[in-house]
Amino acid sequence: MIRIIVFTFFVFSSLSLTAQVPPSEDLRLYDIASASSSQRIEQDVVRLVNFGTRHSLSDTQSESHGIGAARRWIEAEFETISKDCGGCLEVLLIADMATGKRIPEPHEIVSVLAIQRGQSDPNRMLLMSGDIDSRVSDPMNSTSTSPGANDNASGMAGVLEAARVLSRYKFAASIVYAGLAGEEQGLYGGKIVVAHAQKEGWNIEAVLNNDMIGNIAGINGVIDNHSARIFSEGVRWAETAEEARQRYFTGGEVDSASRNLARFIKRVGEQYVSNLDLMMVYRLDRFGRGGHHRPFNELGYPAVRIMEVNEHYDRQHQDIRNEQGQHFGDTIDYVDFDFAAKLTALNAVSLAALAWAPAPPANVTIEGMVQASTTLKWHMGEDENLSGYRVYWRLTTEPEWTHSRWVGRVDHFTLKNIVIDNYLFGVASVAMDGNESPVVFPGPAGAF
Ligand SMILES: [Zn+2]
Repeated sequence: MIRIIVFTFFVFSSLSLTAQVPPSEDLRLYDIASASSSQRIEQDVVRLVNFGTRHSLSDTQSESHGIGAARRWIEAEFETISKDCGGCLEVLLIADMATGKRIPEPHEIVSVLAIQRGQSDPNRMLLMSGDIDSRVSDPMNSTSTSPGANDNASGMAGVLEAARVLSRYKFAASIVYAGLAGEEQGLYGGKIVVAHAQKEGWNIEAVLNNDMIGNIAGINGVIDNHSARIFSEGVRWAETAEEARQRYFTGGEVDSASRNLARFIKRVGEQYVSNLDLMMVYRLDRFGRGGHHRPFNELGYPAVRIMEVNEHYDRQHQDIRNEQGQHFGDTIDYVDFDFAAKLTALNAVSLAALAWAPAPPANVTIEGMVQASTTLKWHMGEDENLSGYRVYWRLTTEPEWTHSRWVGRVDHFTLKNIVIDNYLFGVASVAMDGNESPVVFPGPAGAF
């Protein structure tokens, strides 16, 4: 009798435990990873290049030439994608006047966005961006032929293709596909869009900015079609002096939300996209250079830059010419469309995994000073697809999370005999289907 009771108890408790642990893979993400079409990306890059120039100060009236025609084509393309998914995209233009060093007279900068609303949590916003505009050697030259094939028709075409792929699915959170304008003149489109987002109260959880995703032959002679870089800030740009002071005592120099978003993209990308190695770069952007993720970082939102590893500077921001047999100019013959499709797939699986996951844990705190054990606490989320939480830790010198354990549907957990001084810690929310939020490092240094 006793044996029967013990046996029954054992079966019951082990069943309930297994039922609680969500699956570690989502097979839909393999389908999404293989759905990006290099042919469609090529068609879109050709189309964008054929506008002659997409310089921010170029013609806005012509139907076939200049920045106006280019943005109207992008808008129409989003509308076509929306029609194919039963009107699942809201297409909008976000415009404002801008002036600055590279815009001497007030000029209207117009970005094109398409929003795929989330089913259960529509105010959680996940952005994928590329740029509409292009330039040649002189940043003020608005008339010369400026194909901007890799910089950044490749990123813009990737955004359109990701919208085609992901609009076949339904998600918990919202995905925003963005063609940002005015990048080369001073990141104006991003600034205008983030101001709009802030005014509308968008809860931006992630920005994946794509800027040059099609070059595989570097100026250093390296040819590489299987790796990509993810740039992310280590300390939040928007950190206050008091938050910095706190960070000196509790850590967080390499654990901003943007950095943990980069770790998330690396993990998901290498799991689901074939033959792709991701290099996290521990800096905001390339040395001394800029991109459209920065306006989002400046206002405190998690945002990263995704791009090729090997750049070719003769093919960026150059007048098209030949000097003693050496080609200059960002022409279409140097874009590798299979590679652009691979990086588009990286974006698509990352966005889908984020949009199926619950919101990242809020109000994460940690304690354990002069104690044997470390305790993490957080606010229990209300997402309808929330299954529970996974606690993470790693040595302070490790670039990626190395240890984790499932802790269930609780709002705190103590890691016994793991001393707080020797590790960095975080916590992620996990959905019933196994999709996880990025890991959140405790305190303001890591908050999403
Ligand atoms: Zn550029």
